[in-house]
Amino acid sequence: MSKRDYYEVLGVSKSASDDEIKKAYRKLARKYHPDVNRDNPKEAETKFKEASEAYEVLSNADKKAQYDQYGHAAFDGAQGGAGFGGFGGGFGGASAGGFGDIFDMFFGGQGFGGRSNGPEKGSDLRYDMEITFEQAAFGVEKEIEIPRTEDCRACHGTGAAPGTHADTCPDCKGTGQVQFTQNTPFGRMMNVKTCDRCHGEGKIVKTPCKECHGQGKVKARRKIKIKIPGGVDNGSRLRVAHEGEAGMRGGPQGDLYVYIFVKPHKLFVREGNDVICEVPISFVQAILGDEIEVPTLEGRVKFRIEEGTQSGTIFRLRNKGIPHLRGNSRGDQHVKVKVVTPKNLTEKQRELLKEFARISGEDINPEQKGFFKKMKDAFGVS
Ligand SMILES: [Zn+2]
Ligand SMILES: [Zn+2]
Repeated sequence: MSKRDYYEVLGVSKSASDDEIKKAYRKLARKYHPDVNRDNPKEAETKFKEASEAYEVLSNADKKAQYDQYGHAAFDGAQGGAGFGGFGGGFGGASAGGFGDIFDMFFGGQGFGGRSNGPEKGSDLRYDMEITFEQAAFGVEKEIEIPRTEDCRACHGTGAAPGTHADTCPDCKGTGQVQFTQNTPFGRMMNVKTCDRCHGEGKIVKTPCKECHGQGKVKARRKIKIKIPGGVDNGSRLRVAHEGEAGMRGGPQGDLYVYIFVKPHKLFVREGNDVICEVPISFVQAILGDEIEVPTLEGRVKFRIEEGTQSGTIFRLRNKGIPHLRGNSRGDQHVKVKVVTPKNLTEKQRELLKEFARISGEDINPEQKGFFKKMKDAFGVS
């Protein structure tokens, strides 16, 4: 991103007087003041920084001279690309520090954005839950215990002892905020801060509730039943409304988010709503065909292996997968057949296989013959 010329930023000519530069800057600072740029605070912030930086240089005779001679390159070293935060590091720091303060006053927390003193929703909570593969598939109900802040029952969250009530704070008249004026380089400005007397609550408790010591809130460990629907997956997030932290000033409770972690299964791998498993069969079963048992999420089922089944063949068991989170349908199960080559044969077994090979002759593996021909063609050897 190329940097705009400082004179251009302030909208003044190179021959502008100190006074003109100052006026131009004040105008921009007011224009991009956050109080009048609530619709687009980010842009205002950027513009304000840009104008401040330009003014910082052009209002200082030494810096201005350097800038006139070398342009932005004069300050590259000092700035180091860090943006406004790093600005002015190479030059007498006093005025740069001053700008930092003004900046904080405008954009940091309190005075900016019209902090509300009304009811505020409580914070959301997160709970990580580990469940089994089967529980993820078919759902489960679990009871969890979460530590959280709740409204005190004795005083209904007011903090005032039962039978008494909280009074409106006289300093802020219940708004929780007080106005004050502050001197800045471009004049006196009105600002707002949290009321010291009531700490922003707007109310003052004379007789504190004994249960919560006037806080209106108590720490609790709450047991909550969570119903996990079938079909959730690793990383699924469930929102349990109004089970988070207590709200502020009568606001609603936050929400509880349950993050799901699914333990891996010994036999099954999940792909979307389908379940994949590998079933080993003997080479004799592969050759002659057989009825085998296949594990599913709901127990074993019988499956007929055809004669001459190849290793790696995948067959599908419809509707034996995982139910969809929404709707009635289910995924499928894919069963991958793995033909196991026997090891450590006995003498007798060895003889029989040799005999098998002998009577099979050249035709022992027609597919292999085809493969050798392709290989010859590919490498061009005869
Ligand atoms: Zn209480
Ligand atoms: Zn107050």
